[in-house]
Amino acid sequence: MTLPSIPLAGVIGDPIAHSKSPKLHGHWLRKYGLTGHYVPLEVEAADLRSVLKAMPRMGFVGANVTLPHKERVMEYVDQVTDRATLIGAVNTLIFRNDGTILGDNTDGYGFIENLRQGAPDWEASAGPAVVLGAGGAARAIIASLLDAGVPEILLTNRTRVRAEKLREDFGARVSVVEWVQAGNILEKAATLVNTTSLGMTGKPELRVPLDGLHSQTVVTDLVYTPMRTPLLEFAAERGCVTVDGLGMLLHQAVPGFERWFGRRPVVDDETRQAILS
Ligand code: NAP
Repeated sequence: MTLPSIPLAGVIGDPIAHSKSPKLHGHWLRKYGLTGHYVPLEVEAADLRSVLKAMPRMGFVGANVTLPHKERVMEYVDQVTDRATLIGAVNTLIFRNDGTILGDNTDGYGFIENLRQGAPDWEASAGPAVVLGAGGAARAIIASLLDAGVPEILLTNRTRVRAEKLREDFGARVSVVEWVQAGNILEKAATLVNTTSLGMTGKPELRVPLDGLHSQTVVTDLVYTPMRTPLLEFAAERGCVTVDGLGMLLHQAVPGFERWFGRRPVVDDETRQAILS
């Protein structure tokens, strides 16, 4: 297979109209004056395998994968990176010249890069991280926090069994705390991460009592609609450094864009504005 003269990439999901990825990659392609296109691809689960087979022949060099295909797609790729295996999901595909497909997961990378950019003094080794939520996104967050060197993760989730499963998978540096006790562990947190959907527009509020939060805790929220969630507002009033969730979405896209279009894009205010406009 020869390299396409106009590289194509896209995001595969169902539904896909809401995805911000086409806007983001389109912005970078224009900004850097690169040849290529990035398109939304609405693909039903039943068609996933055949679509993936056809894409390289149509000039696609790769794709992002979003809900509901992030786990299923692992069956259809030839190789999965270690970090994607650990997370148990793939969000980035690379169609290689030899016709094989590599599946990667850049969510944890995006999370840590966003944290480092938004809180430059953040140090993984500073102390325990409290993680709220044990859904799909939490796996990438826990994997990346442990990889970065966080000594201990205190994990709490409404449905305890989901948190227990993550503790089993990630080992002794993760401890599970009852959801009703969440407020009582905040004083131990060097880092606090909300990975639940609570606080998102249209979802219930996050009702964890936040009185125990102290000003040295770095607080980040995966929810980015609204950008300043009530958790981040409260934490900022406490004097905490806060990091919103939009940056994670932007940073997770960097490795794919670089691989497909040959230029490492910078995540800056202009990138944020391009997505929000
Ligand atoms: P998910 O798999 O559906 O998990 C949802 C989580 O929220 C679970 O821990 C769930 O607890 C908890 N939750 C939901 N309703 C609750 C309630 N009423 N009370 C207590 N806990 C509740 O979703 P996900 O994929 O992990 O995504 C979670 C959030 O992260 C979403 O808002 C998503 O948009 C955001 N996200 C952002 C980025 C980014 O780039 N910034 C990336 C990925 C995800 P149970 O287990 O008890 O149901």
